[in-house]
Amino acid sequence: MAERIRRIKFTIETHEFRVVRLAHSGRFAFCEHCGGIVASLEPEEAAMIAGMSVTELYAAIDQGLFHLVGRSLGNLLVCGHSLIRG
Ligand SMILES: [Zn+2]
Repeated sequence: MAERIRRIKFTIETHEFRVVRLAHSGRFAFCEHCGGIVASLEPEEAAMIAGMSVTELYAAIDQGLFHLVGRSLGNLLVCGHSLIRG
């Protein structure tokens, strides 16, 4: 009796999404790139959310991936909306 070979092909799709809950001090600012009021973050907070170093964050800002929205006590503030989109 002939042996039957049965082949089953599985395709697995994976999707990833990030849920970012900002537990920051409630700073908001107008972002001219996004055209609205956004959460504004210190560079260290923004870098942590983006999963990069502060130096890499500044490079991403220079490339236009993330937005600056102003300053707080001399520190630059980063648009939280651009972090989530990027
Ligand atoms: Zn923005």
